[in-house]
Amino acid sequence: MRVAVVGVQGDVEEHVFATKLAMDRLGIEGEVVATKKPGVVEKSDAVIIPGGESTTISKLIFRDVGGKTIAEEIISLAESDCAIMGTCAGLILLSKRGDEQVEKTKTKLLELLDIKVKRNAFGRQRESFQVPIEFKGIGKVEAIFIRAPAIVEVGNVEVLAKFENYVVAVRQKKILGLAFHPELSAEYGDTRVHEYFLKLIC
Ligand code: GLN
Repeated sequence: MRVAVVGVQGDVEEHVFATKLAMDRLGIEGEVVATKKPGVVEKSDAVIIPGGESTTISKLIFRDVGGKTIAEEIISLAESDCAIMGTCAGLILLSKRGDEQVEKTKTKLLELLDIKVKRNAFGRQRESFQVPIEFKGIGKVEAIFIRAPAIVEVGNVEVLAKFENYVVAVRQKKILGLAFHPELSAEYGDTRVHEYFLKLIC
């Protein structure tokens, strides 16, 4: 099995580490490859889009390199019903609709999750925080939010977790979108979200 981590910007290494550890724990053989260029995602069984700065990641994945873009490779993995996970900025990129910040910055989205997101939804007072949430199918998870977006409208998706009035994790078939950072919890030994994701692959 090969899992690609979109490596153009953001917390890439943390996802590589978390995915490798989750694979080991599940006894799955395979490789985890961070990539900055087209050509890798199309040969993978699953892809992760990390957190970072959504405007920057968007520009880089929609950039044409030799007639190909990472964005179109992600979209075709989705069409083949492969597993995709986006965390934080990655969640924004997977969404169908964004807020006025997304529009103002003309950020192109992949439009694979039937949701609307609001960038930086938790405001200055709470730019970064950790809170226990109930994650459907996993249980209690310590969720780490960093200048996080929130899901403000949901269409044809399954809601997996909420925090206060906001939805913070959804699933549409094999596509997962999370407002928080499970890869940082993996640094403390909790790889359950990555294990949940890996189990979607086959
Ligand atoms: N605030 C960032 C954005 O809107 C996302 C933050 C993150 O990924 N940690 O792009």
